[in-house]
Amino acid sequence: MNARDEQPLSGETALISAHGLKKSYGRTEALRGASLDLHVGEILAVTGTSGSGKSTLLHCLAGIVRPDEGVVDYGGEQLDRSAEARLSELRRHDFGVVFQFGQLIPELSALDNVALPLLLSGIRRGPANQRAGEWLERFGVRGQADLRPGEMSGGRSQRVALARALVTEPKAVFADEPTGALDSLAGEQVMTALVHTARESSTAVLLITHDAQIAAYADREVGLRDGVVHSGSPDDVGQEAARHEG
Ligand code: ADP
Ligand code: MG
Repeated sequence: MNARDEQPLSGETALISAHGLKKSYGRTEALRGASLDLHVGEILAVTGTSGSGKSTLLHCLAGIVRPDEGVVDYGGEQLDRSAEARLSELRRHDFGVVFQFGQLIPELSALDNVALPLLLSGIRRGPANQRAGEWLERFGVRGQADLRPGEMSGGRSQRVALARALVTEPKAVFADEPTGALDSLAGEQVMTALVHTARESSTAVLLITHDAQIAAYADREVGLRDGVVHSGSPDDVGQEAARHEG
């Protein structure tokens, strides 16, 4: 019996449900019929080799990239058909994103970076700064509030990026290899902070990672291979393939 068999099957409500996603870039088929549910409040790891379509899948679920075919359902709304204005509203209010590195604005302090999404959604400077400070605190980087990204370690700057993704209290956070550029200690600190905060606020996390140790923080793991989702880790995918071939 492995860890996944122990997951409770009840109470799994899909927050975002993607079905049959296809996406090509020229002649490259990045997604070839990928289906995936992200449940309310769960931490879901998506693993797979480089080029298997992980980032493209994340972008489709987050309404950043429109699939060529297939459906992305978010509470009855079909994101694959939503207008750009609606998608950017969702990205501001309902979804947070974190990438491997470099997504903070280099000219702004940590505090201003975290306050920015709040200012963009119409919250005034005073309360926005207040809340940004609280989120820096939750990620253990309040002491870095006045520093710019270039003046911080990679691990701290990723924790600021997480604070920025979560400050609007989104329903889902999409994290594309958020620890990919960090050493293992910093990676662990970032993951611990993310998992703790996501659980506290029942935020769903779609976490892309290469790293089995990082995937172990998730409630559930799926593997992506050649643009198709397989349940279980890449090892299980290998066994599945072997069964088909044998
Ligand atoms: P992963 O994140 O698993 O490495 P990606 O989703 O980034 O995979 O890419 C899947 C495939 O699509 C790769 O072959 C990649 O080169 C290609 N691809 C992704 N984005 C683009 C793009 N904007 N233009 C052209 N090809 C792309
Ligand atoms: Mg990628």
